[in-house]
Amino acid sequence: VLMFCLVALGRAEYLKYKDPKQPVAVRVKDLLSRMTLAEKIGQMTQIEMKNATADALAKYFIGSVLSGGGSVPAPQASAQAWASMVTEMQKGALSTRLGIPMIYGIDAVHGHNNAYKATIFPHNVGLGATRDPDLVKRIGEATALEVRATGIPYVFAPCIAVCRDPRWGRCYESYSEDPKVVQSMTSLISGLQGEVPANDVGRPYVAGSKNVAACAKHYVGDGGTYLGINENNTIIDTHGLLSIHMPPYYNSIIRGVSTVMVSYSSWNGNKMHANHFLVTDFLKNKLKFRGFVISDWEGIDRITSPPHTNYSYSIEAGVGAGIDMIMVPYTYTEFIDDLTTQVQNKVIPMSRIDDAVYRILRVKFSMGLFENPYPDPSLAGELGKQEHRDLAREAVRKSLVLLKNGKSSYTPPPLPLPKKAGKILVAGSHADNLGNQCGGWTISWQGQPGNNITAGTTILEGIKATIDPSTQVVYSESPDSTVLADKYDYAVVVVGEPPYAETSGDNLNLTIPAPGPSVIQSVCKATKCVVVLISGRPLVVEPYLGDMDAFVAAWLPGSEGQGVADVLFGDYGFTGKLSRTWFKSVDQLPMSVGDAHYDPLFPFGFGLTTKGTK
Ligand code: BGC
Repeated sequence: VLMFCLVALGRAEYLKYKDPKQPVAVRVKDLLSRMTLAEKIGQMTQIEMKNATADALAKYFIGSVLSGGGSVPAPQASAQAWASMVTEMQKGALSTRLGIPMIYGIDAVHGHNNAYKATIFPHNVGLGATRDPDLVKRIGEATALEVRATGIPYVFAPCIAVCRDPRWGRCYESYSEDPKVVQSMTSLISGLQGEVPANDVGRPYVAGSKNVAACAKHYVGDGGTYLGINENNTIIDTHGLLSIHMPPYYNSIIRGVSTVMVSYSSWNGNKMHANHFLVTDFLKNKLKFRGFVISDWEGIDRITSPPHTNYSYSIEAGVGAGIDMIMVPYTYTEFIDDLTTQVQNKVIPMSRIDDAVYRILRVKFSMGLFENPYPDPSLAGELGKQEHRDLAREAVRKSLVLLKNGKSSYTPPPLPLPKKAGKILVAGSHADNLGNQCGGWTISWQGQPGNNITAGTTILEGIKATIDPSTQVVYSESPDSTVLADKYDYAVVVVGEPPYAETSGDNLNLTIPAPGPSVIQSVCKATKCVVVLISGRPLVVEPYLGDMDAFVAAWLPGSEGQGVADVLFGDYGFTGKLSRTWFKSVDQLPMSVGDAHYDPLFPFGFGLTTKGTK
């Protein structure tokens, strides 16, 4: 018995890193000094959810798990189901010798968009049009709560790309072509993480278990690639890089952003994932970013092209450049083995590994992950709750940009529309389609059309709930001549782009997809029409503009289609301003505000207003 007690006492040795009263720096140093090389490299490894068994986490000391793209639980998983999945994984991580919690990350880029029944906020291009950083901060707070409801403490947002070319398939993930607007919208970080205390500006900071760690992405120049080709080459001089693409990172660091994700793209022919100057000398040393740098998905594998052709070289270049956490290295066991050998052979110095692990642990300690590693079941009710939907609806209202209101200055402006009318037509592929109005990154990576994708209100449903009950609504997705032979007081035509994400959205033509143009033309010839465009970017509209009585850019509004009806029918006024230049034709691209030959259809910042009654 005495022996047993002595052994037990010995085990209960005081561990500084486990003591929350110790300063973060002391805890990190103490823990780091106890770690083996295998434990350190494990911390640097982020694996996909589908590979993240408790056993794998324990065996390789894995530091992080993610849901990305298709790597999510069954489509209709409840908040509790997500949380218990995270719990099982965390048990694996905590079962190790030092008990270091893993951090689970997910792409919550317009609300908690992978989770069924979550509130889906407008994509960033629409939020840029609100010019309302406080609104965006509140969206960050709501998103953090919904993400925490599923047991997750870390999101890969915001995307602070400055999209200079709408042909890029990720343009809608960018708040604006103007760095100043993007800078102001880094307020999302303060919403997600909490406001960093004044005496701690620049410290990676997460206020508590109702907040999440954020990730500013994709460092740097992702929005400047040639022809808007995703993951391509950004050709620009240093002054251009620093004055256009870099500024939002300054604000993000001041707000204490916990992590920065490196871009797949290249700068003047050099892969960002191998750029020691920009990642280490500039971001870490000059800008004093103190969180951790994460790669993009298989980002280091793609340092060589074709990917993964000289893996040792890629690992040396990527880790050597200053990347701290490696997202889904392929395969992760190969990565771990190779990096271990390179450190043992002194190809990669131990000091580089220690810098990486120090940064990762600093974030984990700062956010209280050691004290609260498990999901908080009391937050389950936050997912998709009414207050958040009301906030999303407010965001939709403020994101709409009115570009035309009346055929000429002599005709009365049709907007706002009267709620009391005899008979109205609602037409178009996007009028009654939740999936289309949410766009990509919704439930699945690419998103998908249809109404059963998740919970929400379509624009048609919003219209029906807003108009006077005496008004008759006829809905037709693509009205034929018999429908158009009828007399209507007016029509609302809602057309646009189908959902897409990343490379699949790259598009050199930017035309309104068929049958959109013919629906616009036939309906607008037959009756007074308001055209609402659902798209991730400006499209070629000039040929049809003359037919329209009014034209509204609604971007990708998300799950609360009611917000569109709120403004069309005058409960609220139009206030949104273009966050992007609206070009006449694609051969003008790239064209952004401030360019020498600026000849847009609608300039950056344009937006007509109406008065609301509420
Ligand atoms: C995207 C990132 C995203 C990651 C994880 C990548 O393909 O470029 O923005 O965070 O996948 O899903």
